[in-house]
Amino acid sequence: MTFRAIRADKTDAGQDVKLVEMDESELMEGDVTIRVTHSTVNYKDGLALSGKSLVIRRFPMVLGVDLAGIVESSRRSDFAPGDKVILTGHGLSETHYGGYAEKARVNGDWLVKAPDGLTLAEAMAIGTAGFTAMLALMAIEHQDLTPSSGPALVTGAAGGVGSMAISLLADEGWRVIASTGRRSETAYLKALGADEIIDRATLSAPGKPLGKEQWAAGVDSVGSTTLANVLAQTRYGGAVAACGLAGGMDLPTTVAPFILRGVSLLGIDSVHCPKERRLEAWRRLALDLDRDKLATMTRTIPLAEVFDAGARILKGETRGRLVVTIG
Ligand code: NDP
Repeated sequence: MTFRAIRADKTDAGQDVKLVEMDESELMEGDVTIRVTHSTVNYKDGLALSGKSLVIRRFPMVLGVDLAGIVESSRRSDFAPGDKVILTGHGLSETHYGGYAEKARVNGDWLVKAPDGLTLAEAMAIGTAGFTAMLALMAIEHQDLTPSSGPALVTGAAGGVGSMAISLLADEGWRVIASTGRRSETAYLKALGADEIIDRATLSAPGKPLGKEQWAAGVDSVGSTTLANVLAQTRYGGAVAACGLAGGMDLPTTVAPFILRGVSLLGIDSVHCPKERRLEAWRRLALDLDRDKLATMTRTIPLAEVFDAGARILKGETRGRLVVTIG
């Protein structure tokens, strides 16, 4: 049996990423085989699709960090043919064949059964980005911060993690300040629940170690100077969840926010998130996420269009979430 996949091969010139036909015998080790129905385009997918990044750690590699589909066969008692399953992270597209393929064979420990009431397309509209936004919200709540603590800032607001974070925070009752470089997306961000829009330029230039206290919580996709400024303007006892590096991997901060204001910097990792927290995040996403807002932030594309989408996400040109139909 053959199936279509987007595969990266190592060449003398670097990496060759293209749509190919593969044979089922080429699938990697695993105890559950899945007919993939949907995947997504995340920022990390853009990096892998570019053929220039270090995301891929073995070759050949099938790309796509997320997948959703239907179990075809299983050697485990906890998954049976016909089960609807979701997989985000766990090294897909890095060390294990990923979701841009009509077939996948994976370790069943990585899988989550699609919660009741969530379609596979919706699960991938959420994808790693939405899952990460929920992990960030849970980490903030774990600090005993609530909407009464003050507003929450979301950077990279019109992106995938940002859009999901705005929607989740607003629906939990937070006053949301959205930081974006795209003023043209004001109506979109307000429809997701943002109360106030600020220009990302106000956070991107080097600032003082401490600034005026503005927000009690933050969800940051940008990193670098932006994250340093977000920390410097976080209220006493507040917390910022660091999710991404769209603006850079460095963090030119001082200890001032931590030792003078008791601010916490919360690290968010979606790839190796432990199963218990993973299940809790998906349970809450299925229960809490406003499906109309999810539809507003989602566009669906066929597999062949992921190359273009990957290039555009790296340039910060995509809005919200992209679902890829596979099977
Ligand atoms: P998107 O490209 O969808 O969103 C990123 C957003 O950041 C853009 O839409 C843009 O928002 C803003 N942005 C882009 N470039 C810059 C820049 N140079 N300076 C300031 N802002 C910028 O990506 P995702 O939402 O999928 O991912 C966001 C980040 O989070 C990425 O770095 C990704 O690698 C990381 N990530 C980490 C995860 C984890 O496990 N920790 C999981 C998922 C993602 P706007 O136009 O509104 O300003």
